[in-house]
Amino acid sequence: MANGKTHMALGALIGTSNYIIQNKINNQEITFGEIFLTALTSAGIGLIADIIDPPTSPNHRSIGHSLLLNSIILPKIWNFIEDNNNLNFKQKKFYQSLIAAHGSHLALDSTTPRRLPLLV
Ligand SMILES: [Zn+2]
Repeated sequence: MANGKTHMALGALIGTSNYIIQNKINNQEITFGEIFLTALTSAGIGLIADIIDPPTSPNHRSIGHSLLLNSIILPKIWNFIEDNNNLNFKQKKFYQSLIAAHGSHLALDSTTPRRLPLLV
């Protein structure tokens, strides 16, 4: 079972990678501050599933790790962000990077013997 540090590290890696790639594809300049903020926030978001479902036992995974809920909700939030005219390009990519960071937690937990619960 991956521990909190692993989830934070992978969340930071995936979130920051998404942010950099999305900006580079669209020829956007990136500052160190943006990368730092994205990495820091993505690391925290990498823990959200275990904050919702505290890892107090091997069977702790519930709604925060729900395969069905996350596979429905995360793409909807991603698209809501993409279509939101109140956000600029950088804000959209930042928030979508946080979704990617949360997804990294689920991907990592899905490789464990307990995998992810279908619903709760
Ligand atoms: Zn977890």
